[in-house]
Amino acid sequence: MAVDTYHAHVSRIRDLTHDVRELDLTLEHPRTMAFKAGQFISFEVPKEGMPVPVTRPYSIASPPSISDRITLLFNLVEGGPGSTYLYRLKERDAVIFKGPAGSFFLREDPAKHLLFVATGTGIAPFRSMLLTQFERKTGQPVTLFWGLRYERDLYYQDELADWTARYPAFSFVTTLSQPGSEWPGAKGRVTALVEERVTSVRDLAVYLCGNGAMIKDVTALIQRKGLCPIYREKYY
Ligand SMILES: Cc1cc2nc3c(=O)[nH]c(=O)nc-3n(C[C@H](O)[C@H](O)[C@H](O)COP(=O)(O)OP(=O)(O)OC[C@H]3O[C@@H](n4cnc5c(N)ncnc54)[C@H](O)[C@@H]3O)c2cc1C
Repeated sequence: MAVDTYHAHVSRIRDLTHDVRELDLTLEHPRTMAFKAGQFISFEVPKEGMPVPVTRPYSIASPPSISDRITLLFNLVEGGPGSTYLYRLKERDAVIFKGPAGSFFLREDPAKHLLFVATGTGIAPFRSMLLTQFERKTGQPVTLFWGLRYERDLYYQDELADWTARYPAFSFVTTLSQPGSEWPGAKGRVTALVEERVTSVRDLAVYLCGNGAMIKDVTALIQRKGLCPIYREKYY
């Protein structure tokens, strides 16, 4: 899949939380894009005080089976050129991006139990991977651990719960690192979940996406438990 330049327009905007937004881009030229679940696209955006634009990558959150429209998911980083650019886009605005790219994509290995670990908007490539995995109908077990901070940061919870009902091989745990006293779910960091709940790495394939500290810590934890493939996408 060669990296190409795509012209598209914003066809839908959905606010998922106070600072997380989902954007659908409908492709115009070329009209379709072939990519692997987990890959990303890149925008060139202006940065104050810089003579040339800076590049910002964003994972595709929709599955490759939808080839004429892609979904992005991102959070607002105060003063950040990439997220500010995306947040300023309105419906019907034209955009240009390059893609697809990246080696963080869902492998085809039906013998493996898949473990996906995300922090924040690191859920984006896993949404694409999960939808693809469900389409593949392999029935192999898939577990998602997702770390957010507060209750107000929660999104996609109904969609994930719906998937557990429809695909018995799928389960997920959302853990909040700073929940209120009423939060009935898991508390603490995803790293702690991995520590407690991953008892064996036999036949396991691990995919990590999000902040660098989580990726470093979970990689070390898994490696202490034994040898298995670990695929990683560090956002920052
Ligand atoms: C391969 C790849 C795919 C990515 N996909 C996504 C995606 O799907 N969704 C997404 O939201 N981001 C994604 N990112 C991060 C994204 O490219 C930008 O770095 C992010 O939007 C911030 O860019 P900015 O220009 O707004 O701010 P910058 O000025 O570049 O960032 C300022 C600081 O904000 C922090 N930061 C960066 N990203 C985040 C974040 N997501 N949450 C909180 N703090 C952050 C960092 O400490 C950074 O130094 C991805 C990064 C990579 C490398």
